[in-house]
Amino acid sequence: MKYDVVIGLEVHAQLTTRTKMFCGCPTTFGAAPNTQTCPVCQGMPGTLPVVNRLAVEYGTRTALAFGCRINEGCRFARKHYYYPDMPKNFQISQYEEPLAEDGALEVDVPGAEIRRIGIQRLHLEEDVGKLVHEGTLETAQASLVDYNRAGVPLMETVSRPEIRSPEEAAAYLRAFRSVLVFLGVNDGNMEEGSLRCDANISLKPAGRTELGTKVEIKNLNSFRNVQRALDFEVKRQAEALDRGERIVQETRLWDADGGYTRSMRSKEYAHDYRYFPEPDLVPLKLERAWVDEIRGALPELPRARRQRFVAELGLPPYDAGVLTQSRALAEYYERAVRAFPQPKLVSNWVMSELLRELPADDERAIAEAPITPERLAGLLRLIDDGTISGKIAKTVFEKMLATGEDASAIVQREGLTQVADAGALEAMVDAAIAGNPRAVEDFRKGKTAAAKALVGQVMKASGGKANPAMVTRLVEEKLTKS
Ligand SMILES: [Zn+2]
Repeated sequence: MKYDVVIGLEVHAQLTTRTKMFCGCPTTFGAAPNTQTCPVCQGMPGTLPVVNRLAVEYGTRTALAFGCRINEGCRFARKHYYYPDMPKNFQISQYEEPLAEDGALEVDVPGAEIRRIGIQRLHLEEDVGKLVHEGTLETAQASLVDYNRAGVPLMETVSRPEIRSPEEAAAYLRAFRSVLVFLGVNDGNMEEGSLRCDANISLKPAGRTELGTKVEIKNLNSFRNVQRALDFEVKRQAEALDRGERIVQETRLWDADGGYTRSMRSKEYAHDYRYFPEPDLVPLKLERAWVDEIRGALPELPRARRQRFVAELGLPPYDAGVLTQSRALAEYYERAVRAFPQPKLVSNWVMSELLRELPADDERAIAEAPITPERLAGLLRLIDDGTISGKIAKTVFEKMLATGEDASAIVQREGLTQVADAGALEAMVDAAIAGNPRAVEDFRKGKTAAAKALVGQVMKASGGKANPAMVTRLVEEKLTKS
């Protein structure tokens, strides 16, 4: 392509604190409208905000995970604009003195080298309420406002414009989400809006250093939409530049149903917001000892864990990637391997059976899986010692999922033990050979596949309980001898 693509992402993440940023209201999602509000988050005159200490801790934890410099002092600022979802007519945010600056996120881009994307800043602010239109936006006769979300702690992280393609942008967001989920500071739920992304994108002639005019895209609520919207914008801007047009600096809205972006408003500048220091809050001074304590308690991050799974457990990188999509899944896997130390076999079962039933990125669903890692290990042990066949094990797995029972209890009760008794198997093999003279004939003519058909017959007759290795050996012996 004759243009270089330059993308920067701004991600807003709701922090998983129990209460709001500046008041004690709960942050639970999905409560009846306006039931989680108080005079502070309704913006009543005369009320005073109080900073949520845990929100500052979560912001600090995240900043440290990205290797940011934690500013010794930081300050909140008022960002002024009018919109009915924001009753104070200003949002408490941070501007000139953010919590942290200058970090990076390492991103594994599929089929490419590792990219290190700079993080310019990370700051804390409060979320705004939500407008609910009666009917569609175009035809609504009334709009209602729900202030439950107003004041929920929000962490904004701004990347440097170092992302070079829509695919890289989606990969950045995936890696970003997974770090936050591993840190336990955000639930990663893009559908419920607890993680939201805006993208800045511009094009410039290939190799030129001077940046082109950037356009901001709002409303990107899934990895797929981030990539689709940016793909659309790359094409739109490239075509405009080809025609010799100038790109207008503006904010555009992504229409996921239509698959296009449309102009929303001309871009506002920082000076439009009349930022000034929040007079109702004192500047924050973070004690070094407290910051060091948070640093010391950082968990192993997804990328490090992925590398360890490959280096120490010998997993293929693909498996390691799947298994580190959430912290709960990575922990589930490690516990299972501890109880049954055959990493690749455990990985196969987790990826194909467990993840067929449970979404890999759903922390809670994985943590509360009806089959515990130890029970999964118990099932694999039964295959390993020849008690049941791999095929029967899948049936047992289904039953474990439904009942939460131990594999051995189910196998005992339902008589699913593999038939490994040579005498019983021999009788079954004899019957199969006697009943299929054609297959025997084919085998003698050199069609070795005929033996497989006979093994299949025996497995079927045993209801899948025969030991397949023993049946194969017996069939081959009998056919070559007779
Ligand atoms: Zn409140």
